Amino acid sequence: MISNVVDAISTQERIATLGQRVLKGETITREEGSWLFSLEKTADFFDLMAWANRIREHYKGNKVHLCSIVNVKAGGCSENCRFCSQSAAYQTDSPRYGLVDLPPVLAAAEEAKANGVTALGLVAAWKGLDEGPILDQICERLTELKDSGQVRPDASLGIIKNPKVAERLKQAGLECYNHNLESSKRFYPEVCTSHTYEDRVNTIRHLKSAGIKICSGGILGMGETREDRCDLAFALRDVGANIVPINILNPIEGTPMAKSAEGIAPMEVLKSIACFRFILPRQEIMIAGGRSINLRDLQGMIFMAGASAMMVGNYLTTLNQSVEKDLQMLRDLGLDPNWEKHGFSDQEAPNQVEVLAGV
Ligand code: SF4
Repeated sequence: MISNVVDAISTQERIATLGQRVLKGETITREEGSWLFSLEKTADFFDLMAWANRIREHYKGNKVHLCSIVNVKAGGCSENCRFCSQSAAYQTDSPRYGLVDLPPVLAAAEEAKANGVTALGLVAAWKGLDEGPILDQICERLTELKDSGQVRPDASLGIIKNPKVAERLKQAGLECYNHNLESSKRFYPEVCTSHTYEDRVNTIRHLKSAGIKICSGGILGMGETREDRCDLAFALRDVGANIVPINILNPIEGTPMAKSAEGIAPMEVLKSIACFRFILPRQEIMIAGGRSINLRDLQGMIFMAGASAMMVGNYLTTLNQSVEKDLQMLRDLGLDPNWEKHGFSDQEAPNQVEVLAGV
């Protein structure tokens, strides 16, 4: 009994010491991050979340950044990401359509603005972009969306191998590009075999070189270990992600992960978010796909766990709870959706992309 009490105090003290260090602007080590991810007891989770909440408050105040996405090309993707219902490799009920015209994009932007959303991401289901007519059309849509003045136009358009593509997107008015690392380098071959983790890191390198901000995160619950989650968080720190979306797998019938993935408990998700906040104190940590289905009644706790941003509206292939419900949740928590133009992380992102890519 006495030894349990001593253990609890030392765990609490160790979490507090790490929390105080992060509040002072120091970073935690990979070993310390691994220890946080390894915590097992619910009481320790709450302790960790209390500190993650203080760190969020310290760096982000009570502002919450909201993002939405719109699919500008759906389904029939050549890649084989094992979680994705838009891959042509799997039989799913996901819709398929080619590049959409501008009006639906502008309508989505208008709706997003009415909901207080800062940024609208244009998302396309394909391997990636190169120079050519499709890039021209995408650039036109980005420019027109930016000129409409509704929301910040972001994009998630896959792998970029040609640095000129990133430069064209920047010239078209793109400020931020989403390209997730998805998981650790070790686990990535379990996620996808049609392209590599290095392709993803190199894409981020081209975007950063063009002066585009990085939105990059991953998916929890695909069968990865806690060490993989920890590696992902440190890799995102190293690539200099400004916004870190955390998705939680929502297994879609027909995809390989609908059969293989065991899922992840809600408290393990909240603990992982808290660990990400310790490792990435200044970044926007955004809870994205799979939030309502995996967290259910615990959704409001994402902010206590350290999240500072949330994707609202429906996801690409799955439904979310209504935006009205999300906005009510923020009001009930005393949090303020960031209505002003979103400012990116004030932290100068370290440039260790070459180290990660092994180039
Ligand atoms: S995640 Fe993207 S690249 Fe992978 S299969 Fe789906 S649409 Fe294609």
